[in-house]
Formats: sequence, structure tokens, C-alpha cells
Amino acid sequence: MYETKIPFGERDGILFRAYEVDNGLRCRCICPGCKQPLNAANNGEKVVPHFRHAKSNDCFDGFREGARRAAVALIAQRKQLMLPALIETVRVATQDGRLLEEMVELQPVVIHADSVERFVDLGGLRGHAVLHQSHRQLIVRIKLSARMEHERYRQLEALEHSSMEIDLHHLTLEQINDPAKFEHAVLHDLANRIWIRSIRGERLAENALQKLQSVAGKINAQWQLERAAREAAEQARQIELANEKAELQCALEAHRAKQLQMAAEQSATTLDNTVQGRAELIAGTMLKALKEWSGRAVECTACYLLSPPDSRFCLYCDASTSKLNPVTLSPDIPSTINLRMRCSAKPNTSMRNAPILIVRPYFDKIEEH
Ligand SMILES: [Zn+2]
Ligand SMILES: [Zn+2]
Repeated sequence: MYETKIPFGERDGILFRAYEVDNGLRCRCICPGCKQPLNAANNGEKVVPHFRHAKSNDCFDGFREGARRAAVALIAQRKQLMLPALIETVRVATQDGRLLEEMVELQPVVIHADSVERFVDLGGLRGHAVLHQSHRQLIVRIKLSARMEHERYRQLEALEHSSMEIDLHHLTLEQINDPAKFEHAVLHDLANRIWIRSIRGERLAENALQKLQSVAGKINAQWQLERAAREAAEQARQIELANEKAELQCALEAHRAKQLQMAAEQSATTLDNTVQGRAELIAGTMLKALKEWSGRAVECTACYLLSPPDSRFCLYCDASTSKLNPVTLSPDIPSTINLRMRCSAKPNTSMRNAPILIVRPYFDKIEEH
């Protein structure tokens, strides 16, 4: 706890380090926090010079107030300060799901102030130092406790000035007692300072954002054109599918009418709707295909009868599951057809799928078996 070891004592408004004054109460210093008398401890060899309250009390501000006032005094005296670095990434999402990025960067730089105000009331909070440079102001907060100051940041971000924080709460008594180390920590150490608000950084970020938005705008316009083209192509495809479907329906209706007409013209047949009869019809269409259609035909997936190779629909049945598959018949069909039909499940399946044929296959002469 450094709070009990106080680095600076105050006399007549001036801060002294403990080794700069007489030992003990003869230092004639008071605590920068509570203004009570201090004892200087500066003649022990193993003791880092410091002050203590002459009478113990519950003051914990002596350390913080002294270090902060000494830091602000340094800034006011030197009128210069290292500004923190700033690195920020600006991002804009495009409609095609990309993320455009641009890095915004402020290099750390030492500024020289025209004047420095100490402990300025900013309405609800203190600016520990306010640096003026031509018409610009920079508000500086000196942090001397470990806790985060979110509320202070919010208040500072609401002001129309740049603001930064110098965090000195890690400094040891030895470092504070060493004027060179203390000065480096306050004025120049890049590791202990951050921007709370950087007006210049915001302007750079705004410029980068506008640039990215302009690029994104072009990408989005192109994407919308492409989307419109995709949608138009899809619409055209849908129309084409609908047309194809309508054409198929139309052709099927014409086919059904033709089937009915053929059925009406057919004379009564000796083949009734039995499995054996169906087997003979299937065999008959196979022989016919071999003889009349050069061994090529299309086979109905419902009734298994073969139609001429250029047919779109089964000539014989009107089963809703009917589709036509091209087949090529082997020249040995005539000698094997009876055996094939006996072993085949096709006649049975044919009867089940299409119990009644609309048109019966017509053969010049049913082969005798
Ligand atoms: Zn005190
Ligand atoms: Zn059929």
C-alpha cells in the first residue's frame, strides 16, 4: 500500500520530495490530500524517502493527490506532451456478405502547447490539465487508481474536445522519487497513455468510412444488377417449365383421344385381360418390334408393352405411372420368347398396373406357339 507512504509533502503550495526537506516534523509539510501535518522519513539507509501522516488518520488521498499535482505541474512547466498512438479499423459490410476494412492510424507525436491550465472544472468532472494550442484544446486526465473510470470516459466523450488519459497508478515510490523517471512517465511514456476521444482520429475514421461506403455502394449496385439478372433468368426458367408442362398435357390429351378412337375402331379380340393373355400381348409387341421397327422400341413402365420407338406415350394403356424407356431387342427373341415370358414377372405386374388396356396391340398374325 503506497497510500500510507506519501511521495510529496506540501509547503506554501509547493510540493517537495521527502529527501528535499528536513527529517521528521521539521519538514513543516502537510499532506496534499487532507492538509494534515506530515512526518518526513528520509534518513534511513534502506528506506525509500517518503512522508507519513504525523497522526494516523483515514486519509488515502495523500499519495494520489501529490502524484497527480506533481504530474500536472510538470506538464504546465514543460508545456509539452507525447500524444498516444491510435490504431482503429473501419469496417463496412456489403450486400454480398463481404467486409471492407480500412486501417486508421495516428502516430505518437510530441505536441507543444501555447498554455496549460491546471485542474479545470468541466462541469461535473475535472480536467487535470488542459493544453491549449491555437484554437484547439486537449483535456488530460491523470489516473492514479486501478479502477476503470467508465463514467468519466462517457462524460469526456460527450465534450467537443480531444481527451486522453495518462495512467500513473503503477508507479512505485522509487520511480516517483526519481525526477527523470517521473518526468518520462508523465510526459513521454507511450505505454501508459490512451486516447479517450481523438477529434483528429474521428475525422480520419469518418473519411475512411466515406471511402469504404463509396466502394461498397459500387459493389452493392453491381450485386443488385446481378441479382435482378438471376431473378429474371429464374423467372424465364419457370415460364419455360410451365410451357413444357402445358405442352405435355396437351399432347397427352390428344394421345388419349387417339387411343379412344383406335379402341372404337378395333374389333373384338380373342385375348381377354388375363395374365396369360397379357404375356402373349407383351411377346407379340416384342416380335413386332423386331420385325417392323428394326429391333428398337420403347417399353411402357406400367404395362410393359412395346410402342414404336418414336412414341411419346404408351400406345395401349393410360396408367398414370406410365413412362417409356427405349429398348433394343435381341435377334434371338423369337426362339426364346416363350421361356422369357414364363420366367418373367412382367405379365403379372402389367395386369396390376394397367388392368384394362385402352388399345389392344394389333398384330397381322398372332404367332402360333
Ligand atoms: Zn492526508
Ligand atoms: Zn402402357
